[in-house]
Amino acid sequence: MNDKKISLDITFLFPNTMSTYGDSGNVLALQKRCEWRNIEVKIHYSDIYDSIYPSDIYFWGGGQDRAQEVVSSNFSQNKLDFLTKEVDNNKVFLLICGSYQLMGKYYIDSNNNKIEGLGILDVYTQSSKKRMIGNTVIETNPTLNLKVKKIVGFENHSGQTFLGEKIEPFGYVKIGFGNNGLDKTEGALFKNIIACYQHGPLLPKNPHLADYIISKAIENRYGLGIKINEIDNTLEYAAYNSTLKKLKI
Ligand code: GLN
Repeated sequence: MNDKKISLDITFLFPNTMSTYGDSGNVLALQKRCEWRNIEVKIHYSDIYDSIYPSDIYFWGGGQDRAQEVVSSNFSQNKLDFLTKEVDNNKVFLLICGSYQLMGKYYIDSNNNKIEGLGILDVYTQSSKKRMIGNTVIETNPTLNLKVKKIVGFENHSGQTFLGEKIEPFGYVKIGFGNNGLDKTEGALFKNIIACYQHGPLLPKNPHLADYIISKAIENRYGLGIKINEIDNTLEYAAYNSTLKKLKI
C-alpha cells in the first residue's frame, strides 16, 4: 500500500432494529482488517430515527418480518433518496437476508402482508412454507473475480427471492438453498451492492470477501492504484477449510 493515509467510513444501518445471528461481526471484521493495515476506520450507526452519515461502506443485517415491517413503514423519502444516490455513487453495500429483501421491490410475508421495499434492487421476495436453514457453500459469480472463489456461510429464511433480468446473482449454490431453493442462484449484485442470504460471521469466515469490500471502497474513494497489502489469514483459512471439509466439498 502507498504511504498516503487512507481512511474509510463505515455505516452500520439499523444496528438495533435489524441485526440477527451475529451479523454485526461483519462490521468488526471490516474494522479489524482495516486497522491491521493501518487504514483508519470510523464506524457510524444509523437506526430508524437517525440520519445517515455519508460513508464508503454500508452494512445492513437481517431481521424478522416484524422488524422489516417497522423499518419499511418508517423509511423516509429523504433516506431513500440519500441511499439511492449512494448506490449510484458506487458506494459499497453489504446486505444480509432481511435487508436484501427490503432493498428489493417488496416482500410478501407469511401473513400475506406486503412489505414495501426500497425498490433499488430489481428483486422481489415471497414468503414460503419452507424454512431454508443450514450451512451453505456458494460459488461466487465470476464477475467478482474473487481470489478465493467459494464462500462458506449459514442461511435462515423462509422468503424466496427472485431476481429481475438485469440483476446478477452473488453466486451459485453448491450446498444450501440460496435465493429460493429452486434456481440455484444466491444473492444479488448491482453496482457495488452485494446482497446475500449468508447470516452470521460471513466476513470473518471469508476474508477474501472482506478484502474485496475494503478494496472496492478504497478504489471508489481514492481511485485505482492503491492495493491493500496481504495479511496473515492462517487461522481464518484453517476455519474456512475445515468447514469445507466438514461439508465434504
Ligand atoms: N423474514 C425474512 C425471512 O424469513 C428474513 C429473515 C432473516 O433476516 N433471517 O425470509
